Amino acid sequence: MVFENAQKQLEKAKKHVRLSQETEETLQYPKETFNFSIPVRMDNGKLQVFQGFRVRYNDVRGPTKGGIRYHPNVNMDEVKALAFWMTIKCAVIDIPYGGGKGGIIVDPHKLSEAEVEKLSRGWMRGAAHIVGPDRDIPAPDVYTTPQIMAWMMDEYSKIVGKPTPAVITGKPISAGGSEGRSYSTALGGYFATREAVKKIKTGKKVAIQGFGNAGSHMAKFMSEEFTVVAVSDSKGGAYLESGFDYKKLEEVKNTKKRVDAYPGCTKITNEQLLELDADILVLAALENAVTRENAPKIKAKMLVELANGPVTPEADDILHKNHQFLIPDILANAGGVCVSYFEWVQNKEGSHWGEKEVNQKLEEKMVKEFNEVFKIHSDKKIDMRTAAYVLALGRIDRATKAKLSN
Ligand code: NAD
Repeated sequence: MVFENAQKQLEKAKKHVRLSQETEETLQYPKETFNFSIPVRMDNGKLQVFQGFRVRYNDVRGPTKGGIRYHPNVNMDEVKALAFWMTIKCAVIDIPYGGGKGGIIVDPHKLSEAEVEKLSRGWMRGAAHIVGPDRDIPAPDVYTTPQIMAWMMDEYSKIVGKPTPAVITGKPISAGGSEGRSYSTALGGYFATREAVKKIKTGKKVAIQGFGNAGSHMAKFMSEEFTVVAVSDSKGGAYLESGFDYKKLEEVKNTKKRVDAYPGCTKITNEQLLELDADILVLAALENAVTRENAPKIKAKMLVELANGPVTPEADDILHKNHQFLIPDILANAGGVCVSYFEWVQNKEGSHWGEKEVNQKLEEKMVKEFNEVFKIHSDKKIDMRTAAYVLALGRIDRATKAKLSN
């Protein structure tokens, strides 16, 4: 189903870009899919077997790259779709990677820390012949953390008999991680939004759905130039016409565990947040937040997809018809994989870049690729998502043709 949606987006973009028969053929299927069992001795002494996944979708532009998700709903269809999107995302941001993704069917919140460690090491033992610093490089995704990346890197290093930090990214800084990685998704999204505002005139009022890693950092960066008037988390939303003080908001979230406890705010629902009279709407929570039903009620002139897949294909068409400008996920949240790539480069060259250097390089990438996508959007008069696909597919096509020339 999710994979079908991904293929729909591809079909739409194919009308605007000439692809070789080789590219069309190879993009239809993942290069490699792997489904395996991970036995774990639980704290109660019983053995429990978990299901693990890894998909390498396409590697014409370089080793495959993509996160590992721990979630009860993980399934092969979803992993394949996410690996496909990573192929497109890495090409949009022009880093030398293909796309991959992995996961485990599990709710990690129900496991002890020791069980999560055994499970994570077990995933790496099972997938060690698939991954590798020059083959397939995982990273964190939903409910996987820098600590989990460190355990996985350690397990892989034991298997191959040498420290191999470049096998995985999103590690803690003390274990070979990069400066800036913890907030790079939001910073990249902020750079893209700042560029967009130069082209599309909007006001300064911002609403942000989701206050986790991506949303909370976005609130921080956006508050420097814009007025963040609404935020929300899974417990509800908060509105403040004069704008939130980010430091105070962060403190409220840390202590009260919900954003609507902010003193003096008006409590709103997540639906109300989406439909507010804000200028910019940042989607940083879940998939399918904007649908055919609520899309016509959205007033924001600009939408920023920090989450993966927050707007359904039907909602996409409605927003485009209503002339609302959308920065698509494959561009807006590409800052995360971009700094993951920087982490891998640092690991490969045995260096550690400063935070300023990392952020400057990220800014250069985001500004350049945003403008490339925007140009295609303006020249071809197509929506930004399709334009990002056109840019990515052109790059993938050139790499495919160069490799499969006879
Ligand atoms: P997270 O778990 O840290 O945060 C998710 C937030 O969404 C939480 O604040 C949660 O309370 C909120 N939320 C859940 N249901 C909600 C609802 N119905 N309405 C409003 N808020 C709701 O996750 P994250 O890392 O911030 O990721 C968020 C999205 O961004 C995901 O789609 C993820 O795939 C995407 N993303 C994240 C990164 C990254 O580096 N963190 C990179 C690329 C894409």
